[in-house]
Amino acid sequence: MQKLQGIAVSPGVAMGEALVMDNEGFRIPRRFVARDAVEHELERLDEAIHAAGAEIERNRAAVFRELGDQYAAVFSAHLQMLRDPALRNELDAMIRERHYSPEYAVSRALRRYAKVFQTIESSYLAERANDVIDIEKRLLRNLLGRRREELAHLISPVTVLAHNLTPSETANLDREFVRGFATEIGGPGSHTALVAEGLEIPAVVGVGPFLTDVSGGDLVIIDGDHGLVILQPDEETIAHYRYEAEQHKNRAAQLATLRELPAETADKVHIELLGNIEFPHEVEHCLERGAEGIGLYRTEFLYLGAEAEPDEEVHYQAYAKVMEQMQGKPVVIRSCDLGAEKLTFDSEAARNPTLGLRSIRLSLKNLPTFRTQLRAVLRASVLGDLRLMFPLITTQLELRQAKMVLADVMEDLDEAGVPFNDNLPVGMMAETPAAVLLSDRFLEEVDFMSIGTNDLTQYTLAADRSNKEVAGLYSSSDPAVLRLIRMAVETAGRLGKPINVCGQMSGNTLYTILLLGLGLRRLSVTPGSIPEVKKICRTVTIPQCESVAEHVMSLENSRDIKSYLREELKKILPELVP
Ligand code: PEP
Ligand code: MG
Repeated sequence: MQKLQGIAVSPGVAMGEALVMDNEGFRIPRRFVARDAVEHELERLDEAIHAAGAEIERNRAAVFRELGDQYAAVFSAHLQMLRDPALRNELDAMIRERHYSPEYAVSRALRRYAKVFQTIESSYLAERANDVIDIEKRLLRNLLGRRREELAHLISPVTVLAHNLTPSETANLDREFVRGFATEIGGPGSHTALVAEGLEIPAVVGVGPFLTDVSGGDLVIIDGDHGLVILQPDEETIAHYRYEAEQHKNRAAQLATLRELPAETADKVHIELLGNIEFPHEVEHCLERGAEGIGLYRTEFLYLGAEAEPDEEVHYQAYAKVMEQMQGKPVVIRSCDLGAEKLTFDSEAARNPTLGLRSIRLSLKNLPTFRTQLRAVLRASVLGDLRLMFPLITTQLELRQAKMVLADVMEDLDEAGVPFNDNLPVGMMAETPAAVLLSDRFLEEVDFMSIGTNDLTQYTLAADRSNKEVAGLYSSSDPAVLRLIRMAVETAGRLGKPINVCGQMSGNTLYTILLLGLGLRRLSVTPGSIPEVKKICRTVTIPQCESVAEHVMSLENSRDIKSYLREELKKILPELVP
């Protein structure tokens, strides 16, 4: 058994056979071959070795021509390794005696070699590990004959272990069969993480290199509550997790009884709990949990995995579906927040995409696309209580430009006789320090504000939300972030404008008391967390929350704040403390 610590990004526990995807997206299967297929499989291996050898020779010749012998030598070393009789004997034995498939034998043998190189403390030998991995990939490419196994077409339950999953790969995971996933890289605020939460798939990211330690078919536990990945768990651990799963089920059943009850504090202050969604089908998750509306619909997910740019009708159909299902309850549609890691663009700024052309900046630069979306939003505005929100607003000029485009699109629709709500509420996200520092000015020009703590944290602390190397720094409970939240909430209160928090922080039960204590009365959260957040709301009083918040604001760092909040939550609802 091996226990690995990563970053917990989507709660719940998954147990099942591993499906391993390496960093080129190759699926490494554990597959045994029938006894009478052994000779044929050995031939396949022969062919793959031969083809891989020919590829390396071609590369060697090309590099030799351009750069000379010194650089071509690395390919000679690859060839030597590939054709090493000891390796061949090992592979043969695995296929003949253990009936491994050639793919499985190759990944098993070469990963073991790579591991040995990796564990020796020498940068030269660590580099050799990369050579071994390179040979493994070349052989697998030749054996598998195609680049990427479709994660969307599974036929049995699996836990996916991958170097990385992009937000769109995550969004396309087959929810029937993927029980959970863990990745080597990725940070706490990545979009991959929030898609996992939206899909309600337990997930752990940023585990560090571990794929060489696991094979397809191994039993794996992914503990999305504690950020653990357990390879080949022993009986005791399995029993422990089975027990936990049972407890979890009981707790969920108890919380489900709160569905029809209001999120009202013990001293009768109403807290509006809204849901965050990425896809129309998630509306169901919100309604099941008794959400009072949708506080954030991330429409950029219409683009992810789409073969062509969504046209007005694609936008409209998605929005209409959400509006119809919500039956008059408020729905905040956020205009596309593309760019950065959600969708990359080849531009000069792409070297630093988070600070580049993303979100509203991209929309304002790409007006036809922006207008298409706004037309669809306006058309859907007659179907219920629709509100529009602009993401990543940083300057007043940007906000005014976005509103001008909206006014212009309204005029077009008016002329064409297309009905829409000409009193459409327009809000903005506060997710840059600039937006918060000038929130008094911004709030004069919008109907509501939503604090995006995922980005606000990354921009305040200069810590990439999807980079595990700075995950320790990236914390929404950092005192600097909390001061900004408090500032925005106080300003909105003074100006009488509605404000909420819609970043991942708002659905984290650790922060509910604090957020209420800071004055928030609306939270837009991942649907799965509504029951627990509601439970906390119904247990506390506002003065109690205010006194906790006051103490939090006097603490020095995020670690102390988290441990204090954990203790406070433990006092009232110990079962909700992770
Ligand atoms: C945020 O930044 O907190 C937010 C809600 O937006 P996203 O996570 O989509 O960037
Ligand atoms: Mg954001």
